[in-house]
Amino acid sequence: MTTSGRAEKLGEILLATSLITSENLNKAIAAQAKTGKRLGQILVEQGAATEDDIAWALSNQLMYPYIFISRDIIDDEVVRLLPEAFLREHRVLPIQRFGQQVTLAMADPTDEHTVDEVAAQTGLQVNRAVALASNIEATLRQMPSQQPRTAKRRPQGPEAQYLKFHLAHALNEGAFEIHFDQAGDGQHRVRYRLQGILVDRAGHPEELHAGLIRHLREFAGLGDAPSAAAALTVSIGEVEVRAIVSVVPATKGPAATIALYPYRSAVPDLVPLGVGRKTVQALQGALAGAHGALLIGCADPLVRSTLIRAILHATPREKVWALETLPVFRHPGITQTPIDASALAAPLLAGPFGAGSDLVAVDDASHAATLVAAFERGRAQRVIVGHPQDDAVGLIAQVLDAAGSALVASTLAGVLAARPIRLLCPQCKERVRHGSAANGRHTFTPRGCAACSLTGFRGYRVLTEMWLPRAKDRGWMRGSPRETALARLGQATGPSMRGQGHAFVDDGLTSVAELTRVLEGS
Ligand SMILES: [Zn+2]
Repeated sequence: MTTSGRAEKLGEILLATSLITSENLNKAIAAQAKTGKRLGQILVEQGAATEDDIAWALSNQLMYPYIFISRDIIDDEVVRLLPEAFLREHRVLPIQRFGQQVTLAMADPTDEHTVDEVAAQTGLQVNRAVALASNIEATLRQMPSQQPRTAKRRPQGPEAQYLKFHLAHALNEGAFEIHFDQAGDGQHRVRYRLQGILVDRAGHPEELHAGLIRHLREFAGLGDAPSAAAALTVSIGEVEVRAIVSVVPATKGPAATIALYPYRSAVPDLVPLGVGRKTVQALQGALAGAHGALLIGCADPLVRSTLIRAILHATPREKVWALETLPVFRHPGITQTPIDASALAAPLLAGPFGAGSDLVAVDDASHAATLVAAFERGRAQRVIVGHPQDDAVGLIAQVLDAAGSALVASTLAGVLAARPIRLLCPQCKERVRHGSAANGRHTFTPRGCAACSLTGFRGYRVLTEMWLPRAKDRGWMRGSPRETALARLGQATGPSMRGQGHAFVDDGLTSVAELTRVLEGS
C-alpha cells in the first residue's frame, strides 16, 4: 500500500470518530506532502489530536488490541528478532511470540508495508496491536542494546505432540483445566477439570512427564524457578485460547496445570447465568453519575470478567478502557490492556494514561495498591473494580482497610458479589425423598452419565448479592467505626444468596450439597 493510501485510511477513521475535522485533515495532508512525515505524527504536532486519541480510534475501528507496553509484558528475545534501527524507524515493537505468530505493537497499525516487511524478515505471522508511539520509543530506550540474534529453535519432540493432543482434547470436552501430576504409585496422570471436577484421563510414562514439564517451561517462558506461572495466547486448531500455565513442586516431582480460556467476541449475556436485566440495569444506574467505583466480587475469574464485560456493554457507546488479567473478551468498542498480575494495574490506574476514557474497568484489584488506585480514580471518573472476594461485606471490609472510610464513602457506587453454583445434569439427576411419603418433599442429587462426562453437573448459574448505597448510607459509612459499619452493611445486603440458592434446590436445578458448598465457600 502507498503512503497516501495509509494516510487516507487513518484520516478516514479519525474523521469517522469525530476526533478531527476535515479542515484538520486537509491541513495535515498538505504538511505531509511537504515533510514526508507520518500523518498521525503531523496531527499531533499540529495539535489536532492527541497521541492517545489516535491510538484509541485506531484500536476501536480496526479491532486491534490497544496495548500499554511495559518491560514486564515483552520478551527480549522477540524484540531482538528485528534490528533496533528498523524498530525505531517504523515505530513498531515485536513483543510476544506464540509458535509461528508474533504480536507486533505498532503506532500505526494501518501500515501494511511494515507488517509485510516484519513477516518477511522473521518468517512469522504478524498479529497487530496498537501502542502509543511515545510508549514504543520509551520502551526501546529501556532495552539493553544488543545485536539481533536469531531465536534458537529446538526440534519438536514427542512431548510437544503430547501437549498439543491434550490441549485439543480438553478444549473439545469443554474442560477449563488440564493437570499433569503423579498419582502416587509411580504412575503419572492427566486430569481434566470438567464442571468443576477433576476427571482422570489416560496417564503417561515417567520419561514423558519430565520432558513435558521441560517443554511447558520453555513453551510458556517459565524459567527454572521451582514454582512459576505465565499467561500466553495459543492457537488450538481454529480456536484462540488464553492459557495460564503453572508449574509447582510436589512431593514426588513437579506438577503442571494449564487453565484454558477461549477468546470470545460475542457480547456476554448474563440471562443464562440467572442474572436478570433488572440487576444489570441497577448496576448501570449506579454508574450513571460523573464518577464512582462499582465493585464486582467473584472468585472465579471468568465469571467475574463476564459480569464486568456485560455491564460495560450495557453502558451507552463510550470510551471504555479495560485493564485485564484475563483478557478473553474482545470487542472493538473497548480498549484493552492485558496485564499479567493485579499489581501491574496500580501504576497504570494511578498515572495519566487512559485519562481520556469515560469508563475504566480493572478485572482484578486484589492487590491493595491497585484497589486504592482504582478508588482514587473513582473520585474523578467512573470505574468498575473486580475483586476475587465474593461476599459483599467481606469485600467492603477489604476496601475500607485499604482505602479508608472517607474515600470509600465518597466513591463507592455499588457492590455486586457473585458465586457460581453448578446445575445438575438434567439427564441423570436422581430424586431423593426427605421425610415420610405422606408429607415429605424431594430434592435431587448428581449421579453422572455420558452427557456430563460422569460429573453429574452441566453448566452453572450465579448467586448474587447487591448493595447500592444511598446518600444517607454515605453518612454512616464515613462516620461509623469499621465494625459498626460492617454490621449495618450485613443487615442491608441480607441473606439473598441463600434465598436464591434454596429456590434453585426447590426447582430441582441443583443439589443441597452443592448449595452448601457454595454458601460455605468450601
Ligand atoms: Zn449426566
